[in-house]
Amino acid sequence: MPHPVYLDYAATTPLRPEAREAMLDMLSQRWGNPSSMHRWGREARAALEDARARFAAVIGAAPAEIVFTRGGTEADNLAVLGRARAAGGPLACSAIEHKAVLSSAKAAEGKDGRLHVVPVDENGVVDVDALAAIVRDHAPTLVSVMWASNEVGAVQPVERIGEICAEAGVAFHSDAVQALGKVPVRADRVPVDLLAFSAHKLGGPRGAGVLFARRGTKLDPLLFGGGQERGLRPGTEDVASAVAFAVAAELAEAEREATMARIATLRDGLEAGLCARIPGLRVNAAGAPRLPTISNLSVPGADPEMLLMALDLEGIAASSGSACSSGAVEPSHVLLAMGLPAELAGPSVRFSLGRDTTEQDMERVLEVFPRVVERVRT
Ligand code: PLP
Repeated sequence: MPHPVYLDYAATTPLRPEAREAMLDMLSQRWGNPSSMHRWGREARAALEDARARFAAVIGAAPAEIVFTRGGTEADNLAVLGRARAAGGPLACSAIEHKAVLSSAKAAEGKDGRLHVVPVDENGVVDVDALAAIVRDHAPTLVSVMWASNEVGAVQPVERIGEICAEAGVAFHSDAVQALGKVPVRADRVPVDLLAFSAHKLGGPRGAGVLFARRGTKLDPLLFGGGQERGLRPGTEDVASAVAFAVAAELAEAEREATMARIATLRDGLEAGLCARIPGLRVNAAGAPRLPTISNLSVPGADPEMLLMALDLEGIAASSGSACSSGAVEPSHVLLAMGLPAELAGPSVRFSLGRDTTEQDMERVLEVFPRVVERVRT
């Protein structure tokens, strides 16, 4: 069995031991319902509120602005649909949003008004002038632009977008699921009203998320029940996951600079090595400020499914941006929005690196990938 290489950290990450310990402690020792009045309940409540305060500190928010959800998808849905239901009117989002935003914006559009899609440039960066024009001409209820792209890694000009929205009195949501722990994400430095986060992208458990909702942002809940999380996300809280998320987020942030510098060096070396070995290889979003963890490559003339299967047989995990819908493989909506022709948008592979990625992993990909591409191309 060859040395296994996991390069799909943007899909999910292994649970950090510290997060697992915190979770096990909650599940075995402090399993009360935080809404209960008795000692068991009070212990769980104290742990939940401690997690809330710790997460808030990581992003420079107030604890009361943190809503625990059951994942990033739910946080995005609550931001977009919750805002649309509370305020009505048109919405605007970028063309490269994750489906959690795009699909909820489309679902809201049917009820409340139009959806304006903001274009991106060839590097996957949002066209700020086009966004400003939409804000001026259509006064959307909400603008949603992700902090960093899960597919190509392009980091968006969120500060500038936040300023445009703030000046116009328009609420601004950013999906920061891929950004937290990789680039600075601070609610006290960027004028943003809503932020979505997901625990499993940074060493926390799957099925845990956070919506940051700045005080005063009008939002309707999507679920109805016992009024937990200030009525915005009712249902008995998953305290163990919330605590583990706070632990993982604190650690990711504390290690961010050193870890990201190391990963950037690995990623840049990998890209340079692959470009030198594979004719026609294209690094997507190369001209954008990018997350150090993501390398999205177009391999003209190669079938992306075959590439991924061949890599998997060699023990290397990667992914592709293409989506399988009704039996046909369709190119990634992100690469198409960047203006890539189908011949480049279709055959794309995403390697995403993480804190356990090593030099040895990169060497293995440099040895295997060119060989696999050659085989698949012929
Ligand atoms: N937003 C982005 C940018 C993502 O990459 C993901 C995960 O794939 C999500 C939202 C959804 O998060 P979750 O898997 O926690 O629902």
